[in-house]
Amino acid sequence: MESNYYLPEPCLLHPEQVVEYQYADLLPERLRERIEEWEEATEHDYQDLSIAEGWKAGGWASWHLTDPYPMMCECGQDMRLLLTVASNEWSAGYTWRPIEDEPTGTEPSYPRTREPTMITIGRGYSLWIFICPRSFEHPHQTIMQ
Ligand SMILES: [Zn+2]
Repeated sequence: MESNYYLPEPCLLHPEQVVEYQYADLLPERLRERIEEWEEATEHDYQDLSIAEGWKAGGWASWHLTDPYPMMCECGQDMRLLLTVASNEWSAGYTWRPIEDEPTGTEPSYPRTREPTMITIGRGYSLWIFICPRSFEHPHQTIMQ
């Protein structure tokens, strides 16, 4: 049987609005220092909580595999994340998980809740599509991470 990692399986969509916060390394130094203090005081990880996993429209890119890469349009404008196509909706050591995927002990097999589209980007990465906020006619850019 031939597998096609880019052909999504039919699945239900449960849109959820989530507030995200910019990747820490792209924040002003003083704010990063305050976040580090908060992390030490609360034992939370800002990076895990600030950016949701899974498919999403908008939001921020999590540059967790590399340092942030400047996404600049040919017109000089900073580009914005339009869409994330993710291999997983949430990770095993998750910080973000849809309420609908709350373990009940009777859930179907694991991949169907964590990977409902069954799309695999690279070795389990995400595909980010960036656009220029100045004009939809300017070429988009993609990054896989
Ligand atoms: Zn542009």
